[in-house]
Amino acid sequence: MTLTPIQINELRKKINQLVLANGSDKTQTLSIFRNIQNEYRYIPDEALEFISEELDVPKVQIEGAVSFYHFFSSTHRGKFTIYMNTSTTSEMKGCHEIMATFETELGIRFGETTEDQMFGLYTTSCIGMCDQEPAAIINECVFTDLTIEKVKKIIFDLKSGKLPSEICSKIKTQIQEKGPVFFSEHKTGDSLKAAMEHGGLEVIEMIKSSGLRGRGGAGFPTGQKWGMCRATEADARYVFCNVDEGEPGTFKDRVLLTEKAELIFEGMIIAGYAIEAKQGFVYLRAEYAYLLEHLENVLKKMRDQNLLGKRILGTRFSFDIHIKLGAGAYICGEESALIESAEGKRGQPRNRPPFPVVSGYLHKPTIVNNPETYGCAAQIVLHGSEWFKKMGTSTSSGVKLFSVSGDCEKPGIYELPWGLTIHDLLKKCNAKDTLAVQVGGPSGNLISEKDFNRKLCYSDLSTGGAITIYNKKRDLFSILHNHIEFFARESCGFCVPCRAGNVLLLKQLEKIMIGNGSQKDIEDIKNLGRIVKSASRCGLGQSSPNPLLTAISNFSEYFKSKVRQDVDFMSQFNMDFAIAESVKVANRKPNLEKTE
Ligand code: SF4
Repeated sequence: MTLTPIQINELRKKINQLVLANGSDKTQTLSIFRNIQNEYRYIPDEALEFISEELDVPKVQIEGAVSFYHFFSSTHRGKFTIYMNTSTTSEMKGCHEIMATFETELGIRFGETTEDQMFGLYTTSCIGMCDQEPAAIINECVFTDLTIEKVKKIIFDLKSGKLPSEICSKIKTQIQEKGPVFFSEHKTGDSLKAAMEHGGLEVIEMIKSSGLRGRGGAGFPTGQKWGMCRATEADARYVFCNVDEGEPGTFKDRVLLTEKAELIFEGMIIAGYAIEAKQGFVYLRAEYAYLLEHLENVLKKMRDQNLLGKRILGTRFSFDIHIKLGAGAYICGEESALIESAEGKRGQPRNRPPFPVVSGYLHKPTIVNNPETYGCAAQIVLHGSEWFKKMGTSTSSGVKLFSVSGDCEKPGIYELPWGLTIHDLLKKCNAKDTLAVQVGGPSGNLISEKDFNRKLCYSDLSTGGAITIYNKKRDLFSILHNHIEFFARESCGFCVPCRAGNVLLLKQLEKIMIGNGSQKDIEDIKNLGRIVKSASRCGLGQSSPNPLLTAISNFSEYFKSKVRQDVDFMSQFNMDFAIAESVKVANRKPNLEKTE
């Protein structure tokens, strides 16, 4: 798109104002991009130039950051940008039918913008609504439980001049099982007062002795992390709350922040008190931008109560929390990538060591925990570590929030003590005829019935909380294809095993899916998967082959039945598959004689 000289002048003025409003702070780059994207519906090339000049950051760095994030674009995405979620649960609930309706109503395909630039149709990975799919985001507003009729009405309303914010869905929280940690009565401020009575060092000892481990999936001991951060000499330390829950199938942080934001913020304040930090940040995924106003209101209320800000509760402790929005990149859930992104750069993982507790945000000691961990910490400080340890198992203390979705009658959030079996959970959510369960999202394990008696805990089936259920009508290959395609797309591209390996895994899987696979292809997938896991630089590559590898192991008969048993059969080419796209475009029947 070409801007006129007047428009270019206006753009320069706008960027100048944005930069000044953000205190010429380079870490606010993403916020400036977001403003421009939202107003212009793309980021003009001239904007990159101006931002580079105003912030004194090389243009190549600015370009690199813009091109990294899903929700920024150098081409016009339409006055109304529709991002359709294509995760496995969305597919299971009929997203392809919904997508076809959007295309018919607008006369364009996904990946395109209408000629009048009114509508853009794009896909995106999980938006954290797996319990109410199919779902889409339109201009940061969420639309759930989509049906063909709803899509037609949405397009009609938008064409009639209504705003997405006027017609978007009321998002359900669906808390199916409440427990003592997150959904019991809690008077805001009580945990912080208790923490101040104990003192910072004792708080860290309490968290250590409670056995609390990070609830994001990695399970690192929280007290140890806080202790290491406090022990690092520095003139500033930072507390981050990681709300970039991008793992398809997880949505517990969305519910926590909707229902219990005070508790989460209180946990952050306690962490700040314990490690002697003055500043906390919530890194909120762009898909949850609709929560921004609510969260800012809660923060304001807490400032009014003197639970945040200067000299909290009359002490010498000062601490505040600000929210930083992401822009659509799964990898930013990795803590060092999150920190890079929070600094306004591409969200690429850093080399470690040094770990963030030593050198994190702005190279100062930083702790990164997720909302669930902060919520647990706040309750431990109030009720004691023994109270917490009484729940769960000897190696996994406390409760866990599970985001349950897929083929069950009661999808939603379950707060349950660690140690329950998959069978227990399937029973609670009324799942019938279950074929497989994806434990921990696509980076976790795909398990079969033989493992349904295994326990959900750190020493057995460890999980960040996403539980996706597939019944016997589901096609395992399309689920696996969705997962691997997701990782191939979300790889940050820094290291070859992950960047190329996931694409190769996808190709191998597709070869089997079209009936061209042999037993050797299964062996090749296993070998390649091991290489990707062992040679990748961060958790994404180290876990991306998990669903495929565990499926091969847990559904070996299924895989065996789908491949040629002759190990010498190495056909790489399938004519039907090769011409399928052109046949579709030309609307013709292929004229191929079968030789078998
Ligand atoms: Fe990037 Fe993947 Fe390497 Fe992680 S493993 S640094 S996501 S390329």
